[in-house]
Amino acid sequence: MNRRRFLGQSVAALLTTPVAMPVGGEAEVQTGTTQRSEPIRGAVVDNARSRSVKLFLCGDVMTGRGIDQILPHPSEPHLYERYVRSASQYVALAEAKTGPLERPVGFGYVWGDALGIFERERPDARIINLETAVTTSEDAWPAKGIHYRMHPANVPCLVAAQIDCCTLANNHVLDWGYHGLSETLTTLRNAGISTAGAGINADAAAAPAIIDARDRLRVLVFALGTASAGVPREWAATAVRAGVRFLDELSERTVEAVARQVKATKRAGDIAVAAIHWGANWGYEVTRTEREFAHMLIDRANIDVVLGHSSHHPKGIEVYRDHLVLYGCGDFLNDYEGIGGYESFRADLAVAYFASLDSRTGQLTRLALAPTQIRRFRVNHASAADARWLEQTLTREGKRFGTRVTPESDMLILQWSSH
Ligand SMILES: [Zn+2]
Repeated sequence: MNRRRFLGQSVAALLTTPVAMPVGGEAEVQTGTTQRSEPIRGAVVDNARSRSVKLFLCGDVMTGRGIDQILPHPSEPHLYERYVRSASQYVALAEAKTGPLERPVGFGYVWGDALGIFERERPDARIINLETAVTTSEDAWPAKGIHYRMHPANVPCLVAAQIDCCTLANNHVLDWGYHGLSETLTTLRNAGISTAGAGINADAAAAPAIIDARDRLRVLVFALGTASAGVPREWAATAVRAGVRFLDELSERTVEAVARQVKATKRAGDIAVAAIHWGANWGYEVTRTEREFAHMLIDRANIDVVLGHSSHHPKGIEVYRDHLVLYGCGDFLNDYEGIGGYESFRADLAVAYFASLDSRTGQLTRLALAPTQIRRFRVNHASAADARWLEQTLTREGKRFGTRVTPESDMLILQWSSH
């Protein structure tokens, strides 16, 4: 909490563009203090608020490669991809599509309109899947075709959005070898950002990030990676080797292992999030195994929110026994702007998820989605037409889970029936 206040003050200094003034929260506070004739009503509101915790969740944040090139401290640009040999080519591709990009941009630039949305929504904890190493390591993983890295001196771009936790059990954290992983962990820790899903050994990789959200309220984040999302099996952390928290299979046995870890850390009133990097990059399929695994995490491992990612576009949403399951959050930020292919999935469109939970039960009380578009290597408000496309897509994909989304002001609100 102290850290958040400190960051709140220091962030303004990091940003080069003005941020929208807070609206929602500030207005609420003013109403509470000026309506002195209704103290009871104010107390009820406070009480309800203290029981509620709001999480900002999203999928992949890929601040490496092309995006790293426009930040103040770009990495050496060389790549080992089949067709692209320099990260600056991704910048050139984006510029060919949407015009020249300023270089360098400020650290807050890439978050664009998301910063104003954060100010308005005031989440208690901000959790992202950081899909890049943060390192100057030159140890490109030999058997991989794509290597993502962001220069450690660019880590203030994560601080600028007051990110509390980066999940790292994904298919890019070891792109630049064990030295790259080690530097990633150190850099994030020194920036005051918690991590989960990768570590110096299996225990460290399995340990949750613990976010002190507010008033003794803790959010635990467990991060898990799978082969279906392209995480190499050899990246699995062991008793004597660094790596990621890797799930060999989505089985009852695996759930029991997660359950033991949750039980060892979770106290009454804690919220537990399981972030899973799973499934293909493209497509809306949710396998029966994935669905059963998500349900088992809630039923048997005392997980409150299942946060799936890997797909480059948002997938269907389920509310299982009043607990939120996001099967695929989509990319929140990437450098794919100038790359063709898979247009029908609209990977330029993204969603910022704001999940309000009852902190006593972990049950979902409201899910508001801010529709966004990745353009000019930053997050932008989606146009009305694109927001409608997201509404229709999420409603179509939610049908089999009994959910749909409806517009409310500039947000999409999840509707579900309890089961
Ligand atoms: Zn991935």
